[in-house]
Amino acid sequence: MAGPIRKQLIPVIGTATTGVCLDAAGQVRDVGEPYDTAAGQFDFPPFHVGCRSLSAPWLPGFPGHAAAEARAELADRAATETPPPTPAGAAVLAAAGVAAVRSAARAASNRRQRATRRRVS
Ligand SMILES: [Zn+2]
Repeated sequence: MAGPIRKQLIPVIGTATTGVCLDAAGQVRDVGEPYDTAAGQFDFPPFHVGCRSLSAPWLPGFPGHAAAEARAELADRAATETPPPTPAGAAVLAAAGVAAVRSAARAASNRRQRATRRRVS
């Protein structure tokens, strides 16, 4: 006789799947026992905004594809991810971002001033 029905976490696996769900993929729990995720413990998905993971019934002998597919996706990402910028590179990017915001603010201010002058004249 099979034991009580348990539950298994099955994410939709693809490039948009979050690390939270890839890490938790394939976890099998008793009903009423939470899944452990990087975002905390949850009885059921969603674990985050836009989560597509499902909690499905699980019995002994059910295949465990989810965990293997999640590990393959994580390995694929590790192989193709660009390394993070160096601290010096990050500082340059941050400065460029600040300059872009200031430039956009200046342009908006100039537009407002031109509009005001047109109304006055
Ligand atoms: Zn998710």
